[in-house]
Amino acid sequence: MGGPRNLFTQGDAALGGRDAPLRGPRPRPARLGAVGEQPVPASGSSVSYKGPRGTYDVYPGGREPHERAALWAFVEERAREILGHHNYREVRTPVFEEIELFARTAGEASDIVVQKEMFTFRDKGDREMALRPEGTPGAVRSYIEHNLFKLAQPVKLFYVGPMFRQERQQKGRYRQHTQIGVEALGTSDPLVDVEVISLLYAIHQAVGVKEEVVYLNNLGDLETRRAYVPELRAYLRKHAGDLDPDSVARMETNPLRTFDSKHEGTQAVLSEAPKIGAYLSPDAAEHLAVVREGLDALGVPYELDEQLVRGLDYYTMTVFEAKSGALGAQDTVGAGGRYNALISDLGGPDLGGIGFGTGVERMLLAAASYESEPSLDVFFVALAPEARVPAMRLAGALRAEGISCDLDYGGRGAKGQFKQADRTGAAYAAIMGEDELSRGTIKVRDMSSGEEREVSVSDGSSELLRTIKA
Ligand code: ATP
Ligand code: MG
Repeated sequence: MGGPRNLFTQGDAALGGRDAPLRGPRPRPARLGAVGEQPVPASGSSVSYKGPRGTYDVYPGGREPHERAALWAFVEERAREILGHHNYREVRTPVFEEIELFARTAGEASDIVVQKEMFTFRDKGDREMALRPEGTPGAVRSYIEHNLFKLAQPVKLFYVGPMFRQERQQKGRYRQHTQIGVEALGTSDPLVDVEVISLLYAIHQAVGVKEEVVYLNNLGDLETRRAYVPELRAYLRKHAGDLDPDSVARMETNPLRTFDSKHEGTQAVLSEAPKIGAYLSPDAAEHLAVVREGLDALGVPYELDEQLVRGLDYYTMTVFEAKSGALGAQDTVGAGGRYNALISDLGGPDLGGIGFGTGVERMLLAAASYESEPSLDVFFVALAPEARVPAMRLAGALRAEGISCDLDYGGRGAKGQFKQADRTGAAYAAIMGEDELSRGTIKVRDMSSGEEREVSVSDGSSELLRTIKA
């Protein structure tokens, strides 16, 4: 139903984003009263507010894809459908937890800790809390707290929700963003890795992410790290003078994380560094081989990237990142990895897990177009005041049958109402004037062809319904 309408290019808002100049008067400085008085805000409507830096609104007419409610609904519906087909169940955890949960899991070499990305606060009991920067710690905490590890494993969870990171705002990087993520907990079976990676790919494809490539690496198990990390560290120490300061610090805490540096000098040093592939333990090498075989069998396009590490310290074995050529500098749409020590680290049993998080905003940015979405089905045009209530009744009857309808509430004339029918992208206009009222009919106009048909409504809405559904 409904006229074709590309929701990705539809935006018609005239207003800019958070960084656009303020419209209207800037807030006047508060008037200072007599000594000892609190500042009094300027009276009247001269105060104007902006949303916090690094945030955005979803609103009718939003320009960016992630500012449009219809696209949010589209992504979430597609994702939920695919997740359901893979037997993942929803987990919802609070948007804040104790700082320690995030700091401990992300690790001291992570961006979240090193770059001080967390939004933190103290509650009234003086406990240090943080808005969640990512979904995994809360989901794993919940899995342990509610003894889900006692169920048949794996327990396959998904979440959808806002994440908070105090970062410099850029395109595709916000201080509040939304992730759809999964955690498959309680097993280290490499075929679960295949499922999780292919699931990420399937969601991206369903949403329409363009030019996608999945990069894959294996960071090894403890045995691998014992062999590789000292070699890498020794190499980096020799070249410490060419590294950026963050990498110099990470060289000691977690030298693997230096691969994430965007610093040119560091990257040049790393291009000659020992590669992890040569140090993989037999278990890790076998794990990687099975994952690759599975991805090949499922037709997921991927590339091995031995320099791929992720921003969190807890990953072991498989890590992956899905990038889109349609994005600029922030080209990672979604990413994840296996964490075989995380569950036990947080007080649970010694079981493995793997997950991903994918940003809804970046998915939408990377999906420039997709199938036209239906917009409004029917707009009722009332050419006489007495036709308004009958039109409203018919609209109610159609809505009950799943047809989307709207009508004029602005007291517009005929011309204005047809214009409104156009603006809403309605597939049909249903027109009722004095003549139609006296005949017990309504005129149905196909808005794309202009064709009109008069149908009877004296016995209710069934003929109207049939015409519209035809
Ligand atoms: P980046 O390298 O871009 O900083 P990251 O390693 O911090 O990403 P993850 O922690 O793996 O990213 O988060 C998973 C996904 O969440 C990212 O691929 C991205 O789509 C999204 N994401 C992360 N941070 C932001 C942000 N500040 N704004 C918008 N989306 C984000
Ligand atoms: Mg980051």
